Amino acid sequence: MRILLLGGTGEARALATTLHPGYDIVSSLAGRVPDPALPDGPVRIGGFGGVAGLRQWLGDNDITAVVDATHPFAATMTAHAAQACAELGLPHLVLSRPAWDPAGAIRVGSDVEAAQVVADQHYSRVFLTTGRSGVRPFMSSAAWFLIRVVTPPDADVLPCNHELLLSRGPYDYADECALLRDNRIDVLVTKNSGGELTEAKLKAATDCDIAIVMIDRPPLPAGVKSVGTVDEAVDWVAAL
Ligand code: NAP
Repeated sequence: MRILLLGGTGEARALATTLHPGYDIVSSLAGRVPDPALPDGPVRIGGFGGVAGLRQWLGDNDITAVVDATHPFAATMTAHAAQACAELGLPHLVLSRPAWDPAGAIRVGSDVEAAQVVADQHYSRVFLTTGRSGVRPFMSSAAWFLIRVVTPPDADVLPCNHELLLSRGPYDYADECALLRDNRIDVLVTKNSGGELTEAKLKAATDCDIAIVMIDRPPLPAGVKSVGTVDEAVDWVAAL
């Protein structure tokens, strides 16, 4: 048995730590982040070249099962893995951390809809945590943005009034409250990433009476098996 672990998340690293060296695993990272946190065990880095490339790679590397522990918004990789595994008849599991459910959040289906809400509601000081690829829809907004990202977005997609905050979680509640207060934020815009590492901003926003615009997750491909915790993924592997 040889397992491909699609990663780029804390859960993927935790799973690799648990499975290695007892199981033959190889973790895969997209290669987007300079100096990524590396999982335990063997790692390969870079795209596969679409579904066809992935199918080829799985065969060339004698992979017998795939655990997709990518981020809940990495929808393309998740779709490719589901399709390649279905075509090859490989056991396939999605590990997707539970979604957040803060009371009173304004739910939207995309970053474009989130930008529309910011415009319609005339929010003026926005804490934007949608990642480097989620900035473009806000580029024409007249609001001021505090944009927190791991790697900087391209300069040509930045709104004219903004400050960039380059950092990587985890974040704690007191710091998040101070950040919201010091920057006089009136709305938090976030993807529904789930997980504890970046969750404090939600409680901070709620307690500071700051609106939350939450971008819902893309749906999982039809018919895939998914679990919400690393322990459940370990059980699935053990049962193979
Ligand atoms: P995506 O849009 O779903 O994937 C785009 C392409 O990137 C895929 O088609 C694949 O290229 C390559 N790719 C993605 N994940 C890969 C992996 N683990 N190993 C090898 N290739 C991968 O993905 P994304 O949203 O840009 O995310 C990229 C990576 O960052 C993922 O590993 C994800 O877990 C991590 N991440 C994403 C977010 C987010 O908000 N999206 C947040 C935190 C971490 P090919 O078609 O060439 O195979």
